Amino acid sequence: MFDPESFISARARAVDASGIRRVFDLAAQLADPINLSIGQPDFDVPAAVKEAAIAAIRQGFNRYTVTQGIRQLQDKVSALVQQELPLWKPAARGGSFETLITSGVSGGLMLAILACVGPGDEVLIPDPYFVMYKHLVTLAGGTPVYIDTYPDFRLTPERIEPLLTARTRMLLFNSPANPTGAVADNQTCQQVADLAARHNFLLVSDEIYDEFCHAKAPRPGGGPTPRCPSPAAFGDHMLVFRGFSKTYAMTGWRLGWAAGPKPIIDQMTKLQQYSFVCAPSMAQFGGVAALDVDMSAFVEQYRCKRDRVVQALAGTYEMVKPCGAFYAFPKVPERLGLTASQFAEHAIARSVLLIPGSVFSSRDTHFRISYACDDKMLDRGLDVLVDMARPV
Ligand code: PMP
Repeated sequence: MFDPESFISARARAVDASGIRRVFDLAAQLADPINLSIGQPDFDVPAAVKEAAIAAIRQGFNRYTVTQGIRQLQDKVSALVQQELPLWKPAARGGSFETLITSGVSGGLMLAILACVGPGDEVLIPDPYFVMYKHLVTLAGGTPVYIDTYPDFRLTPERIEPLLTARTRMLLFNSPANPTGAVADNQTCQQVADLAARHNFLLVSDEIYDEFCHAKAPRPGGGPTPRCPSPAAFGDHMLVFRGFSKTYAMTGWRLGWAAGPKPIIDQMTKLQQYSFVCAPSMAQFGGVAALDVDMSAFVEQYRCKRDRVVQALAGTYEMVKPCGAFYAFPKVPERLGLTASQFAEHAIARSVLLIPGSVFSSRDTHFRISYACDDKMLDRGLDVLVDMARPV
Protein backbone atom coordinates (compact mmCIF):
# COMPACT_ATOMS: atom_id res chain seq x y z
CA MET A 1 0.00 0.00 0.00
CA PHE A 2 1.23 3.49 -0.84
CA ASP A 3 2.19 5.27 2.38
CA PRO A 4 3.26 8.86 1.63
CA GLU A 5 4.39 9.33 5.26
CA SER A 6 7.07 6.68 4.78
CA PHE A 7 8.78 8.87 2.16
CA ILE A 8 9.41 11.79 4.50
CA SER A 9 13.12 12.08 5.27
CA ALA A 10 14.52 12.29 8.77
CA ARG A 11 15.86 15.71 7.71
CA ALA A 12 12.37 17.04 7.04
CA ARG A 13 10.97 15.40 10.17
CA ALA A 14 13.62 17.11 12.28
CA VAL A 15 12.11 20.51 11.42
CA ASP A 16 9.15 21.36 13.65
CA ALA A 17 6.42 23.61 12.27
CA SER A 18 7.12 27.21 13.14
CA GLY A 19 5.31 28.61 16.16
CA ILE A 20 4.66 31.71 14.09
CA ARG A 21 2.43 29.62 11.80
CA ARG A 22 0.41 28.54 14.82
CA VAL A 23 -0.25 32.18 15.69
CA PHE A 24 -1.29 32.85 12.08
CA ASP A 25 -3.70 29.90 12.22
CA LEU A 26 -5.26 31.25 15.41
CA ALA A 27 -5.38 34.72 13.86
CA ALA A 28 -7.43 33.38 10.98
CA GLN A 29 -10.21 32.50 13.46
CA LEU A 30 -10.45 36.01 14.95
CA ALA A 31 -12.93 38.46 13.45
CA ASP A 32 -11.02 41.68 14.18
CA PRO A 33 -7.55 40.79 15.44
CA ILE A 34 -5.13 43.37 16.78
CA ASN A 35 -2.25 41.93 14.89
CA LEU A 36 1.14 42.67 16.43
CA SER A 37 2.70 39.52 15.01
CA ILE A 38 3.53 40.54 11.45
CA GLY A 39 7.15 40.55 10.29
CA GLN A 40 6.74 42.85 7.33
CA PRO A 41 6.17 46.58 6.78
CA ASP A 42 2.63 47.96 6.63
CA PHE A 43 3.47 50.37 3.76
CA ASP A 44 3.31 49.37 0.08
CA VAL A 45 6.12 48.84 -2.44
CA PRO A 46 7.25 52.25 -3.81
CA ALA A 47 5.54 53.15 -7.11
CA ALA A 48 8.87 53.49 -8.98
CA VAL A 49 9.72 49.90 -8.08
CA LYS A 50 6.36 48.58 -9.26
CA GLU A 51 6.67 50.53 -12.52
CA ALA A 52 10.16 49.19 -13.18
CA ALA A 53 9.03 45.59 -12.67
CA ILE A 54 5.91 46.08 -14.84
CA ALA A 55 8.02 47.68 -17.58
CA ALA A 56 10.45 44.74 -17.42
CA ILE A 57 7.58 42.26 -17.83
CA ARG A 58 6.16 44.26 -20.77
CA GLN A 59 9.59 44.48 -22.41
CA GLY A 60 9.89 40.70 -22.30
CA PHE A 61 12.34 40.20 -19.44
CA ASN A 62 10.45 37.12 -18.35
CA ARG A 63 13.09 34.47 -18.88
CA TYR A 64 15.82 33.08 -16.67
CA THR A 65 18.45 35.65 -15.90
CA VAL A 66 22.08 34.73 -15.40
CA THR A 67 22.42 32.93 -12.06
CA GLN A 68 24.46 35.66 -10.40
CA GLY A 69 21.85 38.33 -11.24
CA ILE A 70 21.39 40.93 -13.97
CA ARG A 71 24.37 43.19 -14.66
CA GLN A 72 22.54 46.43 -13.72
CA LEU A 73 21.66 45.14 -10.25
CA GLN A 74 25.05 43.49 -9.71
CA ASP A 75 26.76 46.79 -10.55
CA LYS A 76 24.58 48.78 -8.17
CA VAL A 77 25.06 46.33 -5.33
CA SER A 78 28.79 46.22 -5.91
CA ALA A 79 28.97 50.04 -5.87
CA LEU A 80 26.96 50.10 -2.65
CA VAL A 81 29.31 47.60 -0.98
CA GLN A 82 32.36 49.63 -2.02
CA GLN A 83 30.83 52.84 -0.77
CA GLU A 84 29.79 51.40 2.59
CA LEU A 85 32.62 48.96 3.21
CA PRO A 86 35.89 50.53 2.09
CA LEU A 87 37.83 47.46 3.30
CA TRP A 88 36.15 45.30 0.69
CA LYS A 89 37.73 45.41 -2.76
CA PRO A 90 35.80 43.73 -5.59
CA ALA A 91 37.31 40.72 -7.35
CA ALA A 92 36.81 42.57 -10.65
CA ARG A 93 39.37 45.15 -9.42
CA GLY A 94 42.00 42.80 -8.06
CA GLY A 95 40.34 42.42 -4.64
CA SER A 96 38.59 39.40 -3.24
CA PHE A 97 34.92 40.18 -2.79
CA GLU A 98 32.11 39.08 -5.05
CA THR A 99 28.36 39.58 -4.99
CA LEU A 100 25.38 37.36 -5.74
CA ILE A 101 21.74 38.32 -6.24
CA THR A 102 19.63 35.85 -4.26
CA SER A 103 16.00 34.79 -3.83
CA GLY A 104 15.60 36.82 -0.67
CA VAL A 105 17.99 36.76 2.25
CA SER A 106 16.45 33.37 3.11
CA GLY A 107 17.64 31.97 -0.20
CA GLY A 108 21.09 33.46 0.31
CA LEU A 109 21.41 32.09 3.83
CA MET A 110 20.42 28.65 2.66
CA LEU A 111 23.09 28.70 -0.06
CA ALA A 112 25.77 29.96 2.34
CA ILE A 113 24.99 27.32 4.93
CA LEU A 114 24.84 24.53 2.35
CA ALA A 115 28.13 25.76 0.88
CA CYS A 116 30.03 26.02 4.18
CA VAL A 117 28.44 23.79 6.83
CA GLY A 118 28.54 20.00 6.93
CA PRO A 119 28.06 17.17 9.42
CA GLY A 120 29.95 17.80 12.65
CA ASP A 121 30.32 21.52 12.06
CA GLU A 122 29.16 23.81 14.84
CA VAL A 123 27.35 27.03 14.08
CA LEU A 124 27.04 29.68 16.77
CA ILE A 125 23.61 31.28 17.02
CA PRO A 126 22.94 34.10 19.47
CA ASP A 127 19.74 33.32 21.44
CA PRO A 128 17.13 34.81 20.83
CA TYR A 129 17.49 34.21 17.08
CA PHE A 130 15.63 34.45 13.78
CA VAL A 131 13.83 31.13 13.71
CA MET A 132 15.09 30.05 10.29
CA TYR A 133 18.75 29.89 11.39
CA LYS A 134 18.58 26.73 13.47
CA HIS A 135 16.58 24.87 10.86
CA LEU A 136 18.96 25.75 8.03
CA VAL A 137 21.90 24.58 10.13
CA THR A 138 20.27 21.25 10.99
CA LEU A 139 19.15 20.75 7.37
CA ALA A 140 22.81 21.07 6.38
CA GLY A 141 23.79 18.47 8.99
CA GLY A 142 25.46 21.00 11.27
CA THR A 143 24.96 21.52 14.99
CA PRO A 144 23.50 24.80 16.29
CA VAL A 145 25.31 26.07 19.39
CA TYR A 146 23.36 28.79 21.15
CA ILE A 147 24.89 31.85 22.76
CA ASP A 148 22.71 33.08 25.61
CA THR A 149 22.44 36.87 25.27
CA TYR A 150 19.82 37.54 27.98
CA PRO A 151 19.04 39.91 29.58
CA ASP A 152 20.57 42.72 27.48
CA PHE A 153 20.81 40.91 24.09
CA ARG A 154 24.41 42.00 23.60
CA LEU A 155 26.89 39.72 21.88
CA THR A 156 30.13 40.05 23.82
CA PRO A 157 33.43 38.15 23.41
CA GLU A 158 32.89 36.85 26.97
CA ARG A 159 29.69 35.19 25.86
CA ILE A 160 31.15 33.78 22.62
CA GLU A 161 34.63 32.61 23.62
CA PRO A 162 33.69 29.77 26.02
CA LEU A 163 31.65 28.18 23.21
CA LEU A 164 34.40 28.16 20.57
CA THR A 165 35.74 24.72 19.68
CA ALA A 166 37.86 23.25 16.89
CA ARG A 167 34.56 22.55 15.08
CA THR A 168 33.22 26.11 15.17
CA ARG A 169 32.58 26.96 11.56
CA MET A 170 30.28 29.95 11.50
CA LEU A 171 28.52 32.56 13.61
CA LEU A 172 25.14 33.87 12.49
CA PHE A 173 25.05 37.54 13.43
CA ASN A 174 21.89 39.63 13.05
CA SER A 175 21.75 43.34 13.71
CA PRO A 176 19.29 45.09 13.82
CA ALA A 177 17.87 41.92 15.29
CA ASN A 178 14.73 39.89 14.94
CA PRO A 179 13.08 39.39 17.48
CA THR A 180 14.65 41.83 19.95
CA GLY A 181 15.18 45.01 17.90
CA ALA A 182 18.68 45.19 19.40
CA VAL A 183 21.38 46.96 17.38
CA ALA A 184 25.05 46.07 17.92
CA ASP A 185 27.31 49.12 18.34
CA ASN A 186 30.61 49.68 16.51
CA GLN A 187 32.59 48.22 19.40
CA THR A 188 30.61 44.97 19.38
CA CYS A 189 30.89 44.73 15.59
CA GLN A 190 34.64 45.18 15.81
CA GLN A 191 35.00 42.60 18.60
CA VAL A 192 32.98 40.01 16.71
CA ALA A 193 34.89 40.66 13.47
CA ASP A 194 38.21 40.32 15.36
CA LEU A 195 37.11 37.07 16.98
CA ALA A 196 36.17 35.63 13.59
CA ALA A 197 39.59 36.47 12.21
CA ARG A 198 41.47 35.25 15.31
CA HIS A 199 39.59 31.96 15.64
CA ASN A 200 39.08 31.41 11.93
CA PHE A 201 35.34 31.07 11.70
CA LEU A 202 33.07 32.60 9.11
CA LEU A 203 30.92 35.47 10.30
CA VAL A 204 27.57 35.63 8.54
CA SER A 205 26.09 39.08 8.98
CA ASP A 206 22.35 39.19 8.29
CA GLU A 207 21.70 42.89 7.74
CA ILE A 208 18.18 42.66 6.35
CA TYR A 209 16.93 45.39 8.74
CA ASP A 210 19.87 47.76 8.16
CA GLU A 211 17.66 50.62 6.92
CA PHE A 212 15.52 50.38 10.05
CA CYS A 213 18.31 51.44 12.37
CA HIS A 214 17.85 54.17 14.98
CA ALA A 215 21.35 53.85 16.45
CA LYS A 216 23.52 54.83 13.50
CA ALA A 217 27.14 55.80 14.11
CA PRO A 218 30.02 57.07 11.94
CA ARG A 219 32.13 54.25 10.54
CA PRO A 220 35.90 54.12 10.67
CA GLY A 221 37.09 55.14 7.18
CA GLY A 222 33.47 55.61 6.15
CA GLY A 223 33.27 59.41 6.33
CA PRO A 224 31.10 61.44 8.67
CA THR A 225 27.76 59.97 7.55
CA PRO A 226 26.36 57.82 10.35
CA ARG A 227 25.41 54.31 9.29
CA CYS A 228 24.04 51.19 10.88
CA PRO A 229 27.08 49.50 12.49
CA SER A 230 28.27 46.40 10.62
CA PRO A 231 31.05 43.93 11.41
CA ALA A 232 31.96 44.17 7.72
CA ALA A 233 33.37 47.64 8.41
CA PHE A 234 36.04 45.93 10.53
CA GLY A 235 37.09 42.86 8.58
CA ASP A 236 36.47 40.56 5.66
CA HIS A 237 36.23 37.14 7.34
CA MET A 238 32.56 37.19 6.54
CA LEU A 239 29.52 37.15 4.33
CA VAL A 240 27.07 40.04 4.34
CA PHE A 241 23.39 39.61 3.46
CA ARG A 242 20.95 42.37 2.71
CA GLY A 243 17.49 42.32 1.26
CA PHE A 244 14.66 44.22 -0.33
CA SER A 245 11.85 42.50 1.61
CA LYS A 246 11.79 44.80 4.61
CA THR A 247 13.27 48.05 3.29
CA TYR A 248 10.93 48.30 0.29
CA ALA A 249 8.10 46.07 1.58
CA MET A 250 8.89 43.56 -1.17
CA THR A 251 8.54 40.38 0.92
CA GLY A 252 6.69 38.54 -1.84
CA TRP A 253 9.16 39.48 -4.57
CA ARG A 254 11.96 37.28 -3.18
CA LEU A 255 15.01 39.44 -3.68
CA GLY A 256 18.20 39.89 -1.71
CA TRP A 257 21.95 39.95 -2.16
CA ALA A 258 25.07 38.47 -0.66
CA ALA A 259 28.61 39.81 -0.66
CA GLY A 260 31.72 38.00 0.50
CA PRO A 261 34.94 36.24 -0.41
CA LYS A 262 34.92 35.12 -4.06
CA PRO A 263 35.56 31.38 -3.44
CA ILE A 264 32.52 31.15 -1.16
CA ILE A 265 30.24 33.27 -3.36
CA ASP A 266 31.32 31.12 -6.34
CA GLN A 267 30.17 27.98 -4.50
CA MET A 268 26.90 29.65 -3.55
CA THR A 269 26.39 30.69 -7.19
CA LYS A 270 26.95 27.09 -8.31
CA LEU A 271 24.37 25.86 -5.77
CA GLN A 272 21.93 28.59 -6.82
CA GLN A 273 22.25 27.42 -10.41
CA TYR A 274 20.98 23.97 -9.39
CA SER A 275 18.27 25.10 -6.99
CA PHE A 276 16.74 28.58 -7.28
CA VAL A 277 18.35 29.08 -10.76
CA CYS A 278 18.07 32.87 -10.39
CA ALA A 279 16.18 35.47 -8.37
CA PRO A 280 12.87 36.39 -10.10
CA SER A 281 13.66 38.40 -13.21
CA MET A 282 11.04 41.17 -12.82
CA ALA A 283 11.95 41.53 -9.14
CA GLN A 284 15.57 42.14 -10.11
CA PHE A 285 14.52 44.98 -12.44
CA GLY A 286 12.37 46.36 -9.63
CA GLY A 287 15.40 46.07 -7.34
CA VAL A 288 17.50 48.27 -9.64
CA ALA A 289 14.88 51.03 -9.25
CA ALA A 290 14.48 50.37 -5.51
CA LEU A 291 18.09 51.19 -4.74
CA ASP A 292 17.40 54.79 -5.88
CA VAL A 293 14.33 55.24 -3.66
CA ASP A 294 14.74 57.18 -0.42
CA MET A 295 12.90 55.33 2.34
CA SER A 296 13.91 57.64 5.17
CA ALA A 297 10.39 59.04 5.71
CA PHE A 298 9.10 55.51 6.38
CA VAL A 299 12.02 54.75 8.66
CA GLU A 300 11.21 57.91 10.60
CA GLN A 301 7.57 56.81 10.92
CA TYR A 302 8.77 53.52 12.33
CA ARG A 303 11.04 55.29 14.78
CA CYS A 304 7.96 57.16 16.06
CA LYS A 305 6.09 53.86 16.39
CA ARG A 306 9.04 52.48 18.34
CA ASP A 307 8.82 55.49 20.68
CA ARG A 308 5.07 54.84 21.11
CA VAL A 309 5.81 51.27 22.20
CA VAL A 310 8.57 52.28 24.61
CA GLN A 311 6.44 55.03 26.13
CA ALA A 312 3.39 52.80 26.56
CA LEU A 313 5.18 49.81 28.06
CA ALA A 314 7.86 51.53 30.16
CA GLY A 315 7.17 50.99 33.83
CA THR A 316 4.87 48.04 33.13
CA TYR A 317 7.20 45.70 31.28
CA GLU A 318 10.91 45.06 31.55
CA MET A 319 12.23 45.69 28.04
CA VAL A 320 15.52 46.47 26.32
CA LYS A 321 14.82 49.61 24.29
CA PRO A 322 14.68 48.44 20.68
CA CYS A 323 16.96 50.45 18.37
CA GLY A 324 16.13 48.84 15.04
CA ALA A 325 14.06 46.47 12.92
CA PHE A 326 10.38 46.87 13.88
CA TYR A 327 10.12 44.63 16.91
CA ALA A 328 10.11 44.92 20.68
CA PHE A 329 10.77 41.99 23.00
CA PRO A 330 9.31 42.69 26.45
CA LYS A 331 9.48 40.27 29.35
CA VAL A 332 6.30 38.73 30.78
CA PRO A 333 6.10 40.15 34.32
CA GLU A 334 7.16 37.37 36.69
CA ARG A 335 4.39 38.07 39.17
CA LEU A 336 1.84 36.94 36.58
CA GLY A 337 3.29 33.42 36.91
CA LEU A 338 2.85 32.73 33.19
CA THR A 339 5.15 31.37 30.53
CA ALA A 340 5.29 33.52 27.41
CA SER A 341 3.28 30.86 25.55
CA GLN A 342 0.53 31.04 28.18
CA PHE A 343 0.70 34.82 28.08
CA ALA A 344 0.32 34.74 24.28
CA GLU A 345 -2.82 32.61 24.66
CA HIS A 346 -4.27 35.12 27.13
CA ALA A 347 -3.45 37.89 24.65
CA ILE A 348 -5.14 36.01 21.80
CA ALA A 349 -8.24 35.63 23.99
CA ARG A 350 -8.27 39.43 24.00
CA SER A 351 -7.74 39.56 20.23
CA VAL A 352 -4.07 40.58 20.42
CA LEU A 353 -1.68 38.52 18.34
CA LEU A 354 1.93 38.37 19.44
CA ILE A 355 4.65 35.73 19.28
CA PRO A 356 5.90 33.95 22.41
CA GLY A 357 9.66 33.94 22.97
CA SER A 358 9.86 30.14 22.80
CA VAL A 359 9.57 30.47 19.01
CA PHE A 360 12.91 32.31 18.93
CA SER A 361 14.65 31.03 22.00
CA SER A 362 15.32 28.26 24.49
CA ARG A 363 13.52 30.50 27.00
CA ASP A 364 9.79 31.13 27.14
CA THR A 365 9.91 34.33 29.16
CA HIS A 366 9.54 37.17 26.64
CA PHE A 367 7.26 37.93 23.70
CA ARG A 368 7.74 39.68 20.37
CA ILE A 369 5.50 42.44 19.19
CA SER A 370 5.84 43.98 15.77
CA TYR A 371 4.97 47.65 15.53
CA ALA A 372 4.75 47.53 11.73
CA CYS A 373 1.05 48.36 11.78
CA ASP A 374 -1.05 51.52 11.81
CA ASP A 375 -0.92 53.67 14.93
CA LYS A 376 -4.55 53.02 15.86
CA MET A 377 -4.09 49.27 15.94
CA LEU A 378 -0.78 49.64 17.72
CA ASP A 379 -2.36 51.82 20.44
CA ARG A 380 -5.24 49.39 20.90
CA GLY A 381 -2.78 46.52 21.28
CA LEU A 382 -0.56 48.43 23.71
CA ASP A 383 -3.61 49.31 25.85
CA VAL A 384 -4.50 45.62 26.14
CA LEU A 385 -0.91 44.69 27.00
CA VAL A 386 -0.75 47.30 29.76
CA ASP A 387 -4.08 46.07 31.09
CA MET A 388 -2.87 42.45 31.05
CA ALA A 389 0.07 43.33 33.28
CA ARG A 390 -2.10 45.12 35.83
CA PRO A 391 -1.95 43.51 39.29
CA VAL A 392 -5.21 41.71 40.08
N1 PMP B 1 16.68 37.48 8.22
C1 PMP B 1 15.88 37.97 9.19
C2 PMP B 1 16.51 38.36 10.48
C3 PMP B 1 14.50 38.10 8.98
O1 PMP B 1 13.73 38.59 9.97
C4 PMP B 1 13.96 37.70 7.74
C5 PMP B 1 12.48 37.82 7.43
N2 PMP B 1 11.61 37.67 8.47
C6 PMP B 1 14.82 37.18 6.77
C7 PMP B 1 16.18 37.11 7.04
C8 PMP B 1 14.32 36.67 5.44
O2 PMP B 1 14.03 37.68 4.57
P1 PMP B 1 13.78 37.48 3.01
O3 PMP B 1 12.35 37.89 2.77
O4 PMP B 1 14.74 38.40 2.33
O5 PMP B 1 14.03 36.07 2.66
